[in-house]
Amino acid sequence: MDIGRYHEIRDELKPYGAVLVAVSKTRPVADIESLYAEGQRLFGENKVQELLAKQPLLPPDIQWHQIGHLQSNKVKYIAPVVQLVESVDSLKLLEEIDRQAGKLGRPVSCLLQVHIAAEESKFGFEPEALRQMLDGPQFRLLQTVQVCGLMGMATNTSSEVQVHREFEGLKNLFEELKARYFSGKPYFKELSMGMSSDYRIALKHGATMVRIGSDIFGKRS
Ligand SMILES: *Cc1c(COP(=O)(O)O)cnc(C)c1O
Repeated sequence: MDIGRYHEIRDELKPYGAVLVAVSKTRPVADIESLYAEGQRLFGENKVQELLAKQPLLPPDIQWHQIGHLQSNKVKYIAPVVQLVESVDSLKLLEEIDRQAGKLGRPVSCLLQVHIAAEESKFGFEPEALRQMLDGPQFRLLQTVQVCGLMGMATNTSSEVQVHREFEGLKNLFEELKARYFSGKPYFKELSMGMSSDYRIALKHGATMVRIGSDIFGKRS
């Protein structure tokens, strides 16, 4: 497999101290092995079934992130396997992750996905709904799930100005929530934003994690 801009991207991330999530959705196991051989250990998948099918075929030191919409009834399968659920978009899902983390007897890390794009179709909390949840009584009852930060996807647009504005907004929300709800919680520190088309903009606005697929693996069919 051609590993695309993999090494260039890693070099670009270095001065920012940001982490690369190699998005391997739709790619065969052999492609993941190729990137593993280059030193990559962190991979993101967006479908539970696909992640669960690939995971046992690959080295055990790979860290998996769930980056796509997750249904509550699938949490029990994914929680034992993933290092981070990046796409938590409801209280119900958070409660189920908490329940499964309790069963596992260890924290399960997740990010709250925020809807920052102009497009309707994307998942995620609206900022105001997120504040309401964090203020609410149910959130305070959570015990074992660990909320480590925020994730967001910008609008798919050629307007860089708009993408700048959206990532800047997410960074501001991150700082606000951190101060208001997560002071004394040092693990609330991750801001996952930026994909192949816009990761450079995301880095300028403080992304700690970028999720890149096509720039490494080539275009998805
Ligand atoms: C597919 C996907 C990516 C990566 O997109 P590319 O444009 O291939 O880099 C990032 N984040 C999420 C949530 C995705 O589903």
